[in-house]
Amino acid sequence: MKKPTRVNHPPDVAVPPGNRPVVAPIYQTVKFEFETVEETLRNQRGERPGFYYMRSSNPTTRQLELTLASMQDRDDCLATASGVNVVAQTLVALTKQGDHILCFVESYGPTRQIIRRLLGRFGVTHTMLSIEDLAGVEHALATTPTRLIVFESPTNPVTRIADIAALTRLARRHGAATVMDNTFAGLHQHGEFDVDYFLHSLTKYASGSGDVMGGAVIGRSELLRPLRADFSVLGGVLDPHAAFLIQRGLRTYFVRYREQSARALDIAQRLAAHPAVVRVHYPGLPAHPQYALARAQMREFGTIVSFDLHGGAEAGRRFTEALALFAKAASVGSTESLVLAPQMLKARDLTAAQQAISGVTEGTVRLSIGLEDPEDLAADIERGLAAAKA
Ligand SMILES: *Cc1c(COP(=O)(O)O)cnc(C)c1O
Repeated sequence: MKKPTRVNHPPDVAVPPGNRPVVAPIYQTVKFEFETVEETLRNQRGERPGFYYMRSSNPTTRQLELTLASMQDRDDCLATASGVNVVAQTLVALTKQGDHILCFVESYGPTRQIIRRLLGRFGVTHTMLSIEDLAGVEHALATTPTRLIVFESPTNPVTRIADIAALTRLARRHGAATVMDNTFAGLHQHGEFDVDYFLHSLTKYASGSGDVMGGAVIGRSELLRPLRADFSVLGGVLDPHAAFLIQRGLRTYFVRYREQSARALDIAQRLAAHPAVVRVHYPGLPAHPQYALARAQMREFGTIVSFDLHGGAEAGRRFTEALALFAKAASVGSTESLVLAPQMLKARDLTAAQQAISGVTEGTVRLSIGLEDPEDLAADIERGLAAAKA
């Protein structure tokens, strides 16, 4: 072989049997080959294991999928390029013209847009209620044949808690499937509930570093199998390099989630005791209206603390801009703390009545608590609250 040929056919370096890498390598390859056409066809018919094309599967991504599935107490998972991508692909794959979706005002904005704007164009209808309106859910299911209930818990940004047992029981009774975006609760919570499809933005707690995007749908393999064909042609796959980084992030997932949750509780308590604060939204506070439900469903209450300031939007702006340690940035769940001012939390796609239901007020601020020193964070928040009052 001449050199131009050799650089395109580098030598194989196979790890011998009985000798394995402790950290799985990144299979940064789009293509895999079999020796014969027949073996390739057998693989495509599902008669022999193996990989063929990255858009359908890749060993690095598959390792991550299996790790995520076991964290969420299910046996299968499909990873995708981002959280919104997995919401979009899952809802597209699960619906057809004429189907009805039950969804909630208290949900991630782009998820509402996927249901209302995107699926609406293809003849999928929806009813949007408050996550606390179980009577409304029961009525909607009893009067309108419903394909899916799509919900979250805790909700963004005011951490309302969905009654998961009640929702899944009603869904079963009326023949609807349940899709739960479990990003805020993390991968280790809610697995014991009868949820069909768990969705996650891996961009948040899974990676923990805020430097990579990913999404995942997790469920029983017989439920995910029909999604594979649609996902493969929709094509929003997770790159193996990103999968590797997320897999690496998962090593510290439990330490991070627990520690950041403990700090969030501490900050929620401090905020609740402060005169500049009207109300704190944190499900781990006994004053949270759904504290008992949160305690029954969750082991940790998460790292998102939102609160309403006296003085409305301008107080929120002053608070946010006075903080030195909190990045004034979107997203949640990374190890650096983040803040969103009221101006950034207003859901412009909601009607005035829906905005009232959402619980977001003119003075609502959202914090995502990271791993900085707790005293430094508390001092920074004191600085912000002083500025808010001024
Ligand atoms: C961030 C987020 C998403 C979207 O995830 P991306 O990875 O940013 O696309 C979906 N749902 C929830 C609840 C989120 O917080």
